[in-house]
Amino acid sequence: MENSNRDFLSSPKIIEHYSLLQDIGVFSYIDQLNSEIKEYQSLLFGAAEIFNRTSIDDIMDATVWQISNQYLPSFIAFVWKPLQNREDVTIKGYQNYKLVDLALNISNISPFEPFFHENREPVLYSALKKMMVNNNEEIKIIFNNLDVLGPELLIPILGPSGLYGIILVGAKILTGAYTSSEIIFLRQLMSFVSQAIQNHIHYEHSVRDVKTGLFNHGFLTTRLNEEISRTRRTGLTASLVVIDVDKFKNFNDSYGHLAGDRVLEYLARTIKSSVRTDDVPSRFGGEEFSILLPSTDGEIALTVAERLRKSVLAMQVPWDPPLPQVTISLGLVSFNKDEDVTSDDLIHRADEALYHSKETGRNRTSVWQGPLPIKNAQ
Ligand code: GH3
Ligand code: MG
Ligand code: MG
Repeated sequence: MENSNRDFLSSPKIIEHYSLLQDIGVFSYIDQLNSEIKEYQSLLFGAAEIFNRTSIDDIMDATVWQISNQYLPSFIAFVWKPLQNREDVTIKGYQNYKLVDLALNISNISPFEPFFHENREPVLYSALKKMMVNNNEEIKIIFNNLDVLGPELLIPILGPSGLYGIILVGAKILTGAYTSSEIIFLRQLMSFVSQAIQNHIHYEHSVRDVKTGLFNHGFLTTRLNEEISRTRRTGLTASLVVIDVDKFKNFNDSYGHLAGDRVLEYLARTIKSSVRTDDVPSRFGGEEFSILLPSTDGEIALTVAERLRKSVLAMQVPWDPPLPQVTISLGLVSFNKDEDVTSDDLIHRADEALYHSKETGRNRTSVWQGPLPIKNAQ
């Protein structure tokens, strides 16, 4: 069976009827099927590449790579709405696979939303312009700016909550205009891109705290368990810091819950900016946060915790009337392969250290060093 489907091509009967088969188009049909198979193979390959990516930026890079490989366009630009509830867009331009500044001036894609809601397909720029340009002044300005760049195709990236972004594709460098079968290919590729983006958004929602954008407690527990296994495998030490805002109930009572929420937002930002990419800053809930520090021993973790505590002392939260400075208390625990602990044990230990910070005056870091006593960092 392996070779049977191609073997018939060398059969003497084929040679005997060669001109008949040629005349009725059998060979060109086989060629056409072959090229369609190639196209589907590259579509599947492209889909696998796109689904393998775990960040939106990586999904975009993989998509650009696929389109560039297939058509070698003069440029590709992603115009992208990073936050669904906001208008402003970010733009990523590529030429010859590399990120470049295309000097594209476009700040809002929502005027395209009604059009792409009806026509969910890639569209030739010239055709789109004809269909939309008379709509209103805002669209005219957008088209004037797009004209400078001169895209040949506009590809929408759509999801359940509407238009996530558009991809502008320049003319092909080597061959002619985009054919209808190429546009179908792009439409199929884009349906994978939209799906990959939606998966990514759902994933982010499942691991993040909505209010602060930090990781949630569930994700912390998962990562903590992974880290416990990793310290056992590698012999490295890791650390966990828990953080609680001091006297926050009083703060809310005096300045209101909205002011309190704003403080938590700023605190989350301060926490985020005080950690490295591999660290896992999360919100336990309420005014309680934590940071998991992989491959970090107690001494370094204490430096991180104290630096954060001091950054919070210097934190400016704009509000009317001006707000008083908030302080945080911290508890720190480190662990390595010698500790036979669960994630609950570690959270409990860090909490005990935090409790010690509260007991001994707040606005300080304590380190768990065995059941008793707990060392105070100050
Ligand atoms: P301390 O931790 O220093 O012992 O005192 P505290 O007043 O912070 O402690 P407690 O845990 O009793 O109170 C926590 C308060 O944090 C209760 C609530 O008013 C406030 N809080 C918790 N979550 C939120 C939130 O999402 N937004 C706001 N504004 N306040 C919150
Ligand atoms: Mg608390
Ligand atoms: Mg508190």
